[in-house]
Amino acid sequence: MRFVGRRRGSSVTSVTDLAKFLTCPYLFLREKVVGKRKTAAMKRGLELHRERYLLHREGAAEMDIEEAVEASWRGKVIGVEVWIDDGEVGGFVDRVEVEEGRARVVEYKSTPRSASWKTSKLQALIYGAILRRYVDYVVVEVRTFEEELFFRRQIDGAVLEAYEKGKEAFRRSIDTGVFPPLPGPHCRYCPLRKSCPLFKSSSLLFMGVSEVAGDGRVQL
Ligand code: SF4
Repeated sequence: MRFVGRRRGSSVTSVTDLAKFLTCPYLFLREKVVGKRKTAAMKRGLELHRERYLLHREGAAEMDIEEAVEASWRGKVIGVEVWIDDGEVGGFVDRVEVEEGRARVVEYKSTPRSASWKTSKLQALIYGAILRRYVDYVVVEVRTFEEELFFRRQIDGAVLEAYEKGKEAFRRSIDTGVFPPLPGPHCRYCPLRKSCPLFKSSSLLFMGVSEVAGDGRVQL
């Protein structure tokens, strides 16, 4: 059965914001304060998301994730643009498939480069950690719209623990106003790499989710 999520207003932190923060708090802050210029690739990505949504929506049921999980015991359910949250963090999952208590989450990106970006893996992991509230077994993937696989991981205890640490780090930065740079291989594609202060700080070890995301192209 195909379904689309019901639109929900919510004041939670967005999955995208938390993923960007965990990629690099300094980059997150700069983009929040200065804003981010929409590139041609980003605009194309938004169009592709919209096209997929409209195609899928044709004849699809409208339901919340709780109803979809319930329905999955009567047969596989496939949803796009499905809202999930845990009361603190939330967002719309690009695609979720659930069957008999097992779920697969897919985060779609428009280019191989954006599919390789650490933030994309973190987004998928965060969606997966939230979805574990509803089902016991979750696998997350990052793919291009052409279905090329760039990242795959089961959501286990290590991811859930890292997710809680990540949320705690986010709250701490909001409270203290400290958003340090977090250098790594992801700096290669950072729009700020020429002006970044690249401060070194041992306190960055709290970024548990970042470690779980890794930098390998695909993790199986
Ligand atoms: S270059 Fe690296 S450390 Fe500096 S802002 Fe960009 S991602 Fe962060």
